[in-house]
Amino acid sequence: MTLSRLVFCLIFSSLPCAYAQDKVDYQDQQKLHDIAAQVSADNIENHITTLVNFGTRHTLSETQSDTRGIGAARRWIKAEFDKISAQCGGCLQVYFQSGTISGEKRIPDATEVVSVIAIQRGQTDPGRYVIMSGDIDSRVSDVMNSTSDSPGANDNASGIAGTLEAARVLSKYQFNGSIVYAALAGEEQGLFGGKILAEHAKQSGWRIKAVLNNDMIGNIEGINGVIDNTSARIFAEGTRQTETQDEARTRRFTGGEVDSPSRNLARYIDWMADRYIPNLDTMVIYRLDRFARGGHHRPFNDLGYPGVRIMETNENYNRQHQDLRTENGIKFGDTIDGVNFAYAAKLTALNAVSLAGMAWAPTPPANVEIKGAVQPSTTLSWQMASPEQAPDLAGYKIYWRYTDAPQWQFSRYVGKVSEFTLENVVIDNYFFGVSSVNKEGFESPVVFPGAAGAFGE
Ligand SMILES: [Zn+2]
Repeated sequence: MTLSRLVFCLIFSSLPCAYAQDKVDYQDQQKLHDIAAQVSADNIENHITTLVNFGTRHTLSETQSDTRGIGAARRWIKAEFDKISAQCGGCLQVYFQSGTISGEKRIPDATEVVSVIAIQRGQTDPGRYVIMSGDIDSRVSDVMNSTSDSPGANDNASGIAGTLEAARVLSKYQFNGSIVYAALAGEEQGLFGGKILAEHAKQSGWRIKAVLNNDMIGNIEGINGVIDNTSARIFAEGTRQTETQDEARTRRFTGGEVDSPSRNLARYIDWMADRYIPNLDTMVIYRLDRFARGGHHRPFNDLGYPGVRIMETNENYNRQHQDLRTENGIKFGDTIDGVNFAYAAKLTALNAVSLAGMAWAPTPPANVEIKGAVQPSTTLSWQMASPEQAPDLAGYKIYWRYTDAPQWQFSRYVGKVSEFTLENVVIDNYFFGVSSVNKEGFESPVVFPGAAGAFGE
C-alpha cells in the first residue's frame, strides 16, 4: 500500500481501504529453489525404463518372477526406497502394505494387492502427514488382461518415478511434519491400494493434511495435436464427500462450496508453481477428477482427507489403456517414447516443493471460525498449534478474496494470536481464511472457516 493510499484510507476510512490492502506477499525460500533444482530428469527416465521393462505390472499378473510382472515391480520399488533410506542414515521407514481383495468385478479371485510405503518422520510433529503417491499397476485394452505386454510408461510409471525421485531429494532434509511416499497398487482394478492406505491412516489416527496423487505426469503431446510442456492440471473436489446434512445447512448460509481443504490445497500448489517452478502454469480444476473418471486421491477424499490429482494438461488417449498395435498408421500403446522426462521432472519438482513447504510449515490452523454479520468488521478465530508441535511458530496470516476470485487476493499477518478482527472489511463481500507461518516464513495452506474448509486437528 502506498503512503498516499494509506493517508486516504485513514482520512476517509471507507470500503476502498479494504480493496487497497497489499497484495499477498511472501518470503522467498532459497531451500525450495534448491529442492526444485535437484530433481533429475535422467533419474526419472531410468526409473520409468526399469518399470516398463517388467513387461506388465497388471495387478493380476505373476508375482514369482524377478524380471516380469507386478511382484518384480514392487520388490524393485521397495529396494529403491531402501537404497534412498540407506543414504540418509535410515531416514525412511519402508514397508509393503498389503490387503487381500476378492469378489470384485475386476478382482474376482483372492489377490494380494501390495503397495510400497516409505515414511520420512517429522521432527516436531510426526503425527502430521503429507503424502505423495503414484500407481504401480498398468493395463491394456481389456482391464482383465494380465499377460500381454503393458508398459504403462506414462500411466503410471511416471507417477512412481516422480515419487521415488522426490523421496531421494527430500530425504536430504529434515522436516517438522512427516512425508509419506506411496507407490500404490491396484489402481486400475478399483483404487484398492489407496483404499487400504486411507483406511489404515484413519485407524492409526494420522493427521493427513495433503495427498498429492500423481497420475500421468509425463505426456506433452495431446491427442488434439497440442504440444505443451508449460502447464499442468490440479483436480480438486468441491464440497467434501463427508459433509453432513447439518454442515450442508450451515454452508448454505455461510459459504464454502469452493473452499474445501482439497481446493485450498490446490491453491497452495498453484502458488508454489508460480513461485518456484519456472515456465509452469497450473490450472486448478474445480472437479474431483477428469469428467467421470477416477484416481487414487479419491479414497482419501472419501474419508475426509484433503487430496488432489496432479497431472499433465494434454492427454493422449491412443497411449492410455491400449493394446500395443498399429492401426491405420496410428501407433497405440503407453510406450516410453510417449513420455517427456524433463516435463515429468518439472511436475515432480512441483510436488517436492509443495511437500517441503507444508512439512516445514506449522500445522494448518484448526477449528477456524468466523463471525461478523451485521457489522462492518470480520472476526476470525482459530486454535493455535501447541509449542511441542510447532516450536518455531511465528504466527498467523489472514487471507481474503472476492467471492468470485479463484485465488486468495489480500492478506494480513496478524502475529501469534488466536483471534483477530479485520476492521472495515465486511464479511458479506469476501471469502476468508487463515494460514500458519513459521519463523523462517514457511506457510501452511489457507484454511477456510468451519467444517466446509477444515484441514482437521
Ligand atoms: Zn490408467
